[in-house]
Amino acid sequence: MTDSLLNRLEAGPVLCAEGYLFELERRGYLQAGAYVPEVVLEHPDVVAGLHREFVRAGSDVVEAFTYYAHREKLLLIGREADLASMNRQALAIAAGVARETGTLLAGDVCNTNVFVNNRALDERRVRPMFEEQVGWAAEAGVDFVVAETFQFAGEALLALEVIREAGLSSVITLAIHQEVETREGWTPEEACRRLADAGATVVGLNCIRGPQTMLPLLGAIVEAIDIPVAALPVPYRTHEQEPTFQSLTDPHASELPDGRPFPLALDPHTCTRYDIAAFTRDALDLGVRYLGLCCGAAPHHIRAMAEAMGRSPVASRFSADMSKHAYLGSDTRLLKENLSFAAHL
Ligand SMILES: [Zn+2]
Repeated sequence: MTDSLLNRLEAGPVLCAEGYLFELERRGYLQAGAYVPEVVLEHPDVVAGLHREFVRAGSDVVEAFTYYAHREKLLLIGREADLASMNRQALAIAAGVARETGTLLAGDVCNTNVFVNNRALDERRVRPMFEEQVGWAAEAGVDFVVAETFQFAGEALLALEVIREAGLSSVITLAIHQEVETREGWTPEEACRRLADAGATVVGLNCIRGPQTMLPLLGAIVEAIDIPVAALPVPYRTHEQEPTFQSLTDPHASELPDGRPFPLALDPHTCTRYDIAAFTRDALDLGVRYLGLCCGAAPHHIRAMAEAMGRSPVASRFSADMSKHAYLGSDTRLLKENLSFAAHL
């Protein structure tokens, strides 16, 4: 079998847009808290539209919106009966957009929230959750499966085992919280090395950390392994004292009902497109070859990433040209009276 992901990586770095949960919550199509992608059944057109916007902005991958469409979550919201249809529908929507745009189709599994790092228990509770979701992805003919946001490298290894048993390629990414280690206490590079040794196609980090606090972890991972490294931060301005988007504080907020900006009041911490472009260049310099953004990403961020990779996606047709701005521009047809008012804006 030809590996379409590896082929694409041989041609250059791959860009994968994520962040569907946050974006569709903002738009009013799913509920914060449980964060289940119910929208795939209720408004498939909206999900397809967002897939298209991300491809237009430069994503090489259409990732099926099956993040948290797993048994634990559906039990929690009383929709266990919809598990198969939600997964199949999400995969069908993504497959349609991947076909029409010539992009790669990815399945998606993630942290199950019931992994406890006990082999017997995890084999019984977690493995079947991966098996059913990976089964639906295989059935849909995905090019590879993304397995993401794992705090325990052990859970990532279990997901990888299931993906390999299905004969599929994989992008396996870990979630690194405030302590720079997995929940079983492995360094990120050690965890990535073990995943690489276990047969992952691509390994790296996703979610939780913003560009500034994910970047310092990437060099050691690139050094430690021979396979392509992935980096998909959240587009929020995390920093040394508050390295994760859950730990960010906001002393200027007039009201914080949840006691912290995460997850609904993160707006003032959002990265600009320039922040994202800078991260992209830095990560490429370190040797990262699979790039993207997670929770919080919007199409303008993805376009900035694509352009920093030297590309010109369809959406670049509308990349800024401030020379035509009425007050800040330089076009000779603009009114001088307005240009001289620029300092008063
Ligand atoms: Zn995320």
